Amino acid sequence: QCPWGAPSTTSISCSLADVMSEQLAKELQLEEENAAFPEVVAAAEGPFITGENIDTSSDLMLAQMLQMEFDREYDAQLRREEKKINGDSKVSISFENYRKVHPYDSDSSEDEVDWQDTRHDPYRADKPTTTPRRGFIGKGKDITTKHDEVVCGRKNTARMENFAPEFQVGDGIGMDLKLSNQVFNALKQHAYSEERRSARLHEKKEHSTAEKAVDPKTRLLLYKMVNSGMLETITGCISTGKESVVFHAYGGNATEDKVIPAECAIKVFKTTLNEFKNRDKYIKDDYRFKDRFSKLNPRKIIRMWAEKEMHNLTRMQNAGIPCPQVVILKKHVLVMSFIGQDQVPAPKLKDVTLSSEDMKKAYYQILNMMQQLYRECNLVHADLSEYNMLWHDGKVWLIDVSQSVEPTHPHGLEFLFRDCRNVSQFFQKGGVAEALNERELFNAVSGLNITADNEVDFQAEIEALEKMNEDHVQNHGKKLSTFSSDGDPPIYDE
Ligand code: ADP
Ligand code: MN
Repeated sequence: QCPWGAPSTTSISCSLADVMSEQLAKELQLEEENAAFPEVVAAAEGPFITGENIDTSSDLMLAQMLQMEFDREYDAQLRREEKKINGDSKVSISFENYRKVHPYDSDSSEDEVDWQDTRHDPYRADKPTTTPRRGFIGKGKDITTKHDEVVCGRKNTARMENFAPEFQVGDGIGMDLKLSNQVFNALKQHAYSEERRSARLHEKKEHSTAEKAVDPKTRLLLYKMVNSGMLETITGCISTGKESVVFHAYGGNATEDKVIPAECAIKVFKTTLNEFKNRDKYIKDDYRFKDRFSKLNPRKIIRMWAEKEMHNLTRMQNAGIPCPQVVILKKHVLVMSFIGQDQVPAPKLKDVTLSSEDMKKAYYQILNMMQQLYRECNLVHADLSEYNMLWHDGKVWLIDVSQSVEPTHPHGLEFLFRDCRNVSQFFQKGGVAEALNERELFNAVSGLNITADNEVDFQAEIEALEKMNEDHVQNHGKKLSTFSSDGDPPIYDE
């Protein structure tokens, strides 16, 4: 009998329509995601990640860890081969594209180097000996045209070097082989289709992981945080948004330089590629990131969101604004202190019912925070509303500042105006009689003195100010450090 045995069950057949149904695929995927990341933390189901359940809880995870280990070994071998081939020759070829774990998603610190910039294209031929335009070299009888069989054949053989390293060409390159154009073209065709096939495989892998809320690499990152003892337990997910997933965790051991809060929030920025497009106007025009934006791959841009949130939170912390405290940033995963208690996050302002006294208190606190944010942190929140303010310990806490920009951002004042509108409307509806209207609030926060008494003119003046700043950038190569508040000449940044 065959040692492998025969499958005892026949596979269930289904219709072609089912197989082709995008709807079904979507539903299945959602089901899977929901199973993996339940909306609410169900205490009975036990924690999401603890030190104990790493090795045993999930076969899938184990398989993924092994796969990653395997990929790393494969790459190490590839690197050895690369080294062997290159030796100490002046011209070297790179196998980078054939690695399983690309430098930008590996965990080592080397990925801080922007590999895209330094990498040279391994498949561009090194200055091919060109046949001049007229199509022949030499004189008289010794004339050689570009169609000369011998020259062409040798050239073709040499050109095999441009094929991918995994494409076996044998010892041909070293010999005086003369490949006919026909043979060379057939080989080239084959080599390229192989290359494309491999690229497609990579693409597919990328796509399927990007779809999920937290991909295996992110899960590994989270495991590592628990493994290292920095976190005690990741209890579960407290929010899944379009752009991020937030987990609750109990803090672990303090290190030499850091005390870990008793409860932490872990914000995982989604590595889906379609979302960042909606937001690129925030970051693309932010001069702090200007030089870096154009060269980056999407994955790096996602990381910049996390980085931005960290920097902005730190500025706010320094100004004494109530907000989460940054614990650590690892790639696209930001760990911060948890606002709330016993796994229960503080309610958003939109979900809490405050006494009219607390409501008034909250309003003045926010007015104050917006001013501090603008003046001391040099920031505009840019997504300020009752959705991103938590009520905790009798005060308002600001969260979600990855999209915050400096006031001189090309759209900074527009963002501020939008923030003011949200805040104004919320408190006016909430019955705070003292609440300024959006235009008054804008002036109070920015110190600008825009006098227009209607929305349209106000907006126009804001845009005129922004334009003035942009023109200044065009002419002087740098922006104003602040907007002038009362017709004085603007203060220039040194
Ligand atoms: P998003 O971009 O998805 O809106 P947020 O930063 O607003 O990301 O986080 C989503 C939700 O997660 C918040 O509305 C809040 O309920 C919760 N949350 C985020 N950070 C914290 C934190 N530090 N403490 C408690 N809850 C948090
Ligand atoms: Mn939010």
